[in-house]
Amino acid sequence: MSESKSKEATIMNTHANKCIACTVQQCAHHCGSEDYCSLEKILVGTHEANPSMDKCTDCKSFRQK
Ligand code: SF4
Repeated sequence: MSESKSKEATIMNTHANKCIACTVQQCAHHCGSEDYCSLEKILVGTHEANPSMDKCTDCKSFRQK
Protein backbone atom coordinates (compact mmCIF):
# COMPACT_ATOMS: atom_id res chain seq x y z
CA MET A 1 0.00 0.00 0.00
CA SER A 2 1.37 3.46 -0.89
CA GLU A 3 1.92 6.06 1.82
CA SER A 4 -0.93 8.29 0.64
CA LYS A 5 -3.34 5.34 0.48
CA SER A 6 -2.48 4.23 4.02
CA LYS A 7 -2.88 7.83 5.27
CA GLU A 8 -6.33 7.93 3.64
CA ALA A 9 -7.29 4.65 5.34
CA THR A 10 -6.19 6.01 8.72
CA ILE A 11 -8.33 9.13 8.30
CA MET A 12 -11.35 7.04 7.26
CA ASN A 13 -10.96 4.74 10.26
CA THR A 14 -10.75 7.54 12.79
CA HIS A 15 -13.77 9.53 11.55
CA ALA A 16 -16.68 8.94 13.90
CA ASN A 17 -20.11 9.10 12.27
CA LYS A 18 -22.20 10.24 15.25
CA CYS A 19 -25.35 9.01 13.48
CA ILE A 20 -24.12 5.39 13.69
CA ALA A 21 -23.22 4.28 17.22
CA CYS A 22 -21.49 0.89 17.26
CA THR A 23 -19.58 -1.11 19.87
CA VAL A 24 -18.11 -3.73 17.52
CA GLN A 25 -14.46 -2.82 17.96
CA GLN A 26 -13.40 -5.91 15.98
CA CYS A 27 -14.82 -4.36 12.80
CA ALA A 28 -12.42 -2.63 10.38
CA HIS A 29 -14.94 0.23 10.04
CA HIS A 30 -15.14 0.96 13.79
CA CYS A 31 -13.68 4.41 14.43
CA GLY A 32 -11.50 3.10 17.25
CA SER A 33 -11.34 5.97 19.73
CA GLU A 34 -15.10 6.21 20.32
CA ASP A 35 -18.02 3.79 19.90
CA TYR A 36 -19.08 4.91 16.44
CA CYS A 37 -18.90 3.59 12.91
CA SER A 38 -16.65 5.44 10.46
CA LEU A 39 -18.82 4.76 7.40
CA GLU A 40 -21.21 7.31 5.89
CA LYS A 41 -23.95 4.68 5.87
CA ILE A 42 -24.35 0.98 6.74
CA LEU A 43 -26.61 -1.86 5.69
CA VAL A 44 -28.52 -3.78 8.38
CA GLY A 45 -30.04 -7.12 7.49
CA THR A 46 -31.06 -10.40 9.05
CA HIS A 47 -30.00 -14.05 8.88
CA GLU A 48 -33.41 -15.24 10.13
CA ALA A 49 -36.52 -16.06 8.11
CA ASN A 50 -38.67 -14.39 10.75
CA PRO A 51 -36.63 -11.93 12.88
CA SER A 52 -38.14 -11.34 16.34
CA MET A 53 -35.40 -9.77 18.47
CA ASP A 54 -32.28 -7.62 18.14
CA LYS A 55 -29.94 -10.62 17.96
CA CYS A 56 -31.66 -11.67 14.73
CA THR A 57 -30.22 -8.63 12.95
CA ASP A 58 -26.75 -8.14 11.50
CA CYS A 59 -24.63 -5.30 10.25
CA LYS A 60 -24.01 -6.36 6.66
CA SER A 61 -21.31 -3.69 6.33
CA PHE A 62 -19.08 -5.49 8.86
CA ARG A 63 -15.55 -6.19 7.66
CA GLN A 64 -12.95 -8.14 9.60
CA LYS A 65 -9.95 -6.04 10.67
S1 SF4 B 1 -19.69 -1.48 9.64
FE1 SF4 B 1 -21.26 -2.16 11.09
S2 SF4 B 1 -20.19 -3.42 12.58
FE2 SF4 B 1 -18.67 -2.24 11.47
S3 SF4 B 1 -18.31 -0.42 12.75
FE3 SF4 B 1 -19.86 0.10 11.22
S4 SF4 B 1 -21.82 -0.30 12.21
FE4 SF4 B 1 -20.23 -1.35 13.40
